[in-house]
Amino acid sequence: MPTILNNLIQNGVLADTHAHLHDPVYSGKERLVLERAAYCEVSEIWLMSVDIDSALKNMRLVSNYQPRFPFLKLRLAIGIDPDVLIPSSSNFTFDFYNKTSEELGLFVKMKLTSLLEKAESLGVKVELVGEIGIDNYWLSKQVTDGELSAADAGQSLKLQKAMFIAQVEWAWERNLPVSIHSRSSEQEVLDILKDLLKNYPEGEAILHSFTGKPSQFNEAQQMGVFVGINAILTYDTAELLRATVERLAKKNISKGLAGLYSSGILLETDAPYLIPKGADRKALELVYGEQVNEPAMVYVLRDFVFNLLGKEPS
Ligand SMILES: [Zn+2]
Repeated sequence: MPTILNNLIQNGVLADTHAHLHDPVYSGKERLVLERAAYCEVSEIWLMSVDIDSALKNMRLVSNYQPRFPFLKLRLAIGIDPDVLIPSSSNFTFDFYNKTSEELGLFVKMKLTSLLEKAESLGVKVELVGEIGIDNYWLSKQVTDGELSAADAGQSLKLQKAMFIAQVEWAWERNLPVSIHSRSSEQEVLDILKDLLKNYPEGEAILHSFTGKPSQFNEAQQMGVFVGINAILTYDTAELLRATVERLAKKNISKGLAGLYSSGILLETDAPYLIPKGADRKALELVYGEQVNEPAMVYVLRDFVFNLLGKEPS
């Protein structure tokens, strides 16, 4: 079955597999973002959504700009990220929170279906589901700081989990891969995927911005789940992550990006977040008015990874 992941491994092209082009920082500069990426020989950008509005914005972006960039594939992801269920988030939505787990699961599947229909009406293909997942970082921080009760945190986590499972099921019923956020919930996400893979053995998943333990990388690899790495790898504090990437990908890197991908590792920018070390921050500020990341910078990450693994940048 030729999925976008198989395609990536076969072709070994430079792809930013997780970017937020819906972010307001790019408003009015979308064409420039894409031109700069094309100039840096980026062949694919996977456009992540975080809620309904960002999904609608992304599908309009693909519909408007894909025809003008024939050599830069824009792949649309739709999905609702856990922020809508985190009470302190600016994206918190009562419509989602005010439900039982079961109601929320059905509700979110319905929302994804109507987004899919909308995309089809614009002639845009939905190619994956994301970003979705579980975030326990903010909840535990707020509980520790006394800003949130343990009961509220528990309720949020319960709903996050239900919404995550429903979206993976929706995606895998349609043979679409999922891009997953798992901050401070790496093991929980792995356990859920392991369980769901029993029902959907062909299910494909990417743990985006994964910074789990080395043993969790192994677990993902054994399950056939991909990990997405970004600029965090280039930061001074990421020694363990670098050692893990080296261990997983060293033997395949002679085959270039195809080799890296076949080791289960994908590259992503998570733009506008996380500027890689070595990128020209001043230039980014000149272009976007502030120091933000962009999909073009995935080439800096590729060169960093090749360097780390002792391969000449091609
Ligand atoms: Zn993201």
